Amino acid sequence: MSFTLAIVGRPNVGKSTLFNRLVGKRLALVDDQPGVTRDLREGSGRLGPLRFTVIDTAGLEEATDESLPGRMRALTERAVDMADVCLFLIDARVGVTPTDRILGELLRKRAPQVILAANKAEGRKGEQGFYDAYELGLGEPLAISAEHGIGMDDLLRALEPVAERFEDATAIVDVDLDEIDDSVNEEGEGAILPPGRPIQIAVVGRPNAGKSTLVNAILGEDRLLTGPEAGITRDAIAVSVDWDGVPFRIFDTAGMRKKAKVQEKLEKLSVSDGLRAVRFAEVVVVLLDVQIPFESQDLRIADLAEREGRAVVVAVNKWDLEEEKSHKLNELREAFGRLLPQLRGAPMVMVSALTGKGLDRLRAAIVKAHSVWNARISTARLNRWLAGQIADHPPPAPGGRRIRLRYMTQVKTRPPTFVVFCSHPEGVPDDYKRFLVNGLRRDFDMPGTPIRLYLRAGE
Ligand code: GDP
Ligand code: GDP
Repeated sequence: MSFTLAIVGRPNVGKSTLFNRLVGKRLALVDDQPGVTRDLREGSGRLGPLRFTVIDTAGLEEATDESLPGRMRALTERAVDMADVCLFLIDARVGVTPTDRILGELLRKRAPQVILAANKAEGRKGEQGFYDAYELGLGEPLAISAEHGIGMDDLLRALEPVAERFEDATAIVDVDLDEIDDSVNEEGEGAILPPGRPIQIAVVGRPNAGKSTLVNAILGEDRLLTGPEAGITRDAIAVSVDWDGVPFRIFDTAGMRKKAKVQEKLEKLSVSDGLRAVRFAEVVVVLLDVQIPFESQDLRIADLAEREGRAVVVAVNKWDLEEEKSHKLNELREAFGRLLPQLRGAPMVMVSALTGKGLDRLRAAIVKAHSVWNARISTARLNRWLAGQIADHPPPAPGGRRIRLRYMTQVKTRPPTFVVFCSHPEGVPDDYKRFLVNGLRRDFDMPGTPIRLYLRAGE
């Protein structure tokens, strides 16, 4: 399975030039596809060994003042919503303009991941603009030249982890890869989300866990909308609901409408289906059946959600059936820690979809996980914190060689992602990284979200 890269930026920064370089002649005209306008171009991109889909917002006109023209905003938003990663171009010869700042802010809020690049960086004229790009707060910029093919190796390096995430995601789902590819692409092409920003959730879990019952309980009388919406393919159904004053969008999975015709394919279906829902969701609710919790299918989907960088809330359903509640709770906590260590810190909420008990707590846990997933911590706070951690618990000195952790910054949200610059990143053991991640989670109160931490060589 490959990922989708959107090239975004104001007019004239070199988007088309880069698009052409990545896509070559492999341009697919997308005019006829539903949900994609002529204004978005799509092609099969190639960079070194990587294969991916590229989207370009072609033919925009320049802004005349500080406000972003509606069309540029709308197109950029659409491209962003279709993408797994956005490549944000600025013009290194011009530096950061007001329009760049507005676009940067939009991306920061909306994009799943942003790679910032200063284009036209060949020669000295591009130097100042390259340094200016740091001020956008989107992490370290790449210096590239789309026209001359400079910096493509850096771009490749930046995209490799993205590609890896997508490989990982397929590796653990043992269904036919072609099948996943199709289902994902089918979704991808028209999946344009509205600007209202409801919290997008998916309820996943094994058949009979109670997913339909839960969603119906949440909807209650307030069933604003069901059925296929424009832009979402026939296979995915999203339901919008105002759940006690908070707007939500719930992605249905075939498992919920289920009673599938082909019964023996149910397990298989609900995994690839879960994959699809997970990719749409911001918060994934993993619904367990208290009588058969932590089944292998539950574990796989929970792991998938974590790897995809989604916020996760574990809900244990049918709690009404449980007699020995406190005993069961201990048992569940123990099993959670042992079987899903990668979800450490994710909230576990006991619910009964049937009686409605626990739904308020579930809602609160989802809202909290969502806000944490979007959290941004200032560099100053992070570095004060890092200094404290190092003082209390310095990194080991493998072979007597001391590792200096010099500086730390949050490079993105959704999920929170941090980079620590240090002297010998390869020498830092995984358990020290885990120590830092667990510390971040504890000290900055970030339950329910994956936290990514990367080590980089540098000052
Ligand atoms: P778009 O509007 O963002 O799609 O920008 P284009 O790709 O049409 O490029 C705008 C102008 O910048 C064109 O004249 C390109 O030839 C030029 N350009 C694009 N990339 C580079 C680059 O790396 N270096 C220089 N010097 N010019 C570039
Ligand atoms: P799905 O396959 O995950 O969508 O599961 P359903 O919502 O169809 O529920 C499967 C069965 O579990 C149905 O018979 C439900 O009535 C039952 N069920 C769902 N939630 C609860 C609950 O909280 N308590 C009890 N006792 N039964 C439940």
